[in-house]
Amino acid sequence: MKHNTHIYLAHKSIEFLYDSLGDLRQINGKKVNARKKQKIRREAKSLQRIFISHLDRISEASWAPDDIICDKSIFHIFKLFTEDEFSDFNDYAKKTYKLNNKNYYLASGSGGLPYKIDHLSRIISDMLKLRKYNDSFSMQQIMYQFFLLSHYIIDAHVPMHCDIRDDNPGKNKPKNGKYYKDRWHGKLEQIWEKACTPIGISEGIITRERSKDSLDKTSYSPLVTFDIDKDVKDIKTYCLEPRDLMDYTIRLCINSKERNLRLFPISDPNDMQEKELKKLTRKIFADSIGNLVSIWVCIWCQNQ
Ligand SMILES: [Zn+2]
Repeated sequence: MKHNTHIYLAHKSIEFLYDSLGDLRQINGKKVNARKKQKIRREAKSLQRIFISHLDRISEASWAPDDIICDKSIFHIFKLFTEDEFSDFNDYAKKTYKLNNKNYYLASGSGGLPYKIDHLSRIISDMLKLRKYNDSFSMQQIMYQFFLLSHYIIDAHVPMHCDIRDDNPGKNKPKNGKYYKDRWHGKLEQIWEKACTPIGISEGIITRERSKDSLDKTSYSPLVTFDIDKDVKDIKTYCLEPRDLMDYTIRLCINSKERNLRLFPISDPNDMQEKELKKLTRKIFADSIGNLVSIWVCIWCQNQ
């Protein structure tokens, strides 16, 4: 995702942090029992208040991984492939992940996004523990890390980040199949950026920094609009244990891969499906908020 989109989604996740836990589920979809849910919501409420007093850090921290840390080509992606796309899949599969009886393969050098999310989550958790023990870290430093983490979680929802066909063919990559031209990735993220920017500006979330930050809404803007009075039902949140995080984020990346297969069909990946993009945009944005809330709350609650 691009600059304003990251800022926008981090803000929206804070706004929905409490309300979206009203229908908190276990990973298997079952309801969380009322007492546990009440406890989690109470703790999430205090996290929300602390976030609100550090809002000024979001615009830098949620963008720092692209801008300052620059670990894009390793930790913002997890580029999977399947045997349906490449007949020589077996020659390049360094790791195999399974979901719903389907195999997803990772070639060497194709990214470690779930590892980064898992690792950063553990670091934040450690910082919270050390803060309690000897006041080693300020709340400002910890909030900064929470916002930094948001970048990687949001990026896992970008379908193109989880599909090897988004790369140019080359060494260590399967050859007997079709890739799509690299112009799409930037183009689709730009569509979302243009959709979010006018809403973010009108809601006071995004500061207008350039004349090209347009105030005019696009046809995609309604799809990325989340109103706390009307849209809570679209945001799904899950009660996660720290030990679940790794598998959860891998599943999230597999889900993004499946979405990319809808956008870029195997038979002709250059024939990008704009109708699917419209359908998927709402889900991608709603899931970004729901999963960010779920992971933030998981890290916070284990340390309360
Ligand atoms: Zn990124």
